[in-house]
Amino acid sequence: MIVTIDGPAGAGKSTVARRLAKRLGFAYLDTGAMYRAVAWIGLRRGIDWNDDEAVGWLAARTSIQWNGDRILVNGEDVSDAIRTTEITAAVGHAADHPAVRRWLVQLQRAVAEGVSLVTEGRDQGSVAFPDAACKIFLVARPEERARRRVEDFHARGEEVEFEKVLADILQRDRADQSRPVGALVKPDGAICLATDGLTIEQVVDRLEEIARKRGIGS
Ligand code: C5P
Repeated sequence: MIVTIDGPAGAGKSTVARRLAKRLGFAYLDTGAMYRAVAWIGLRRGIDWNDDEAVGWLAARTSIQWNGDRILVNGEDVSDAIRTTEITAAVGHAADHPAVRRWLVQLQRAVAEGVSLVTEGRDQGSVAFPDAACKIFLVARPEERARRRVEDFHARGEEVEFEKVLADILQRDRADQSRPVGALVKPDGAICLATDGLTIEQVVDRLEEIARKRGIGS
């Protein structure tokens, strides 16, 4: 049984998806980490993302696996290495490449085979699992997402300007909605949950309620 959670950057998908999975007794799949892993191996191999043959070569020679919640590329644990600003800056090359998207969607479906899963990303309910038992589209106003991001930076001891973070979020929204492949859309039949003013626990409570109403969860 599959629960998909999609939504714009900064809507808090990863945190709530992980907690929801725990409550339902399901596995959790962070598909953003998969795109980051491909960006990481692409950088390491010096891939030219405009060279389709090279990208095909990369896909054929790269294994992406998990050990618990650690992500491994060709057996190497890259869980921390994929969170750097260098990878964040490069991940668009992987996420915009049609062959990479086909490869990772196929892998996501293979991972879900016979497994109960909460999966989170940008295209999980629309492309990867259109027949999922429960599809969620998580949204929050850009100002709310910017406010949360500023809090995250502060918690890490970093100073950032709210206006700059907000401008980045608005820019990323525009880019995500107009991507030629894998654009962010509300999946058909998805339940839209606005998280403005809700705590993480309140969002997870709502999601659990939605899922359990559909008979989902152990
Ligand atoms: O969520 P995270 O920031 O780790 O995602 C990394 C990148 O991969 C983002 O640019 C995101 O939009 C993209 N992505 C995607 N499709 C997914 C999950 C993430 O294009 N299913």
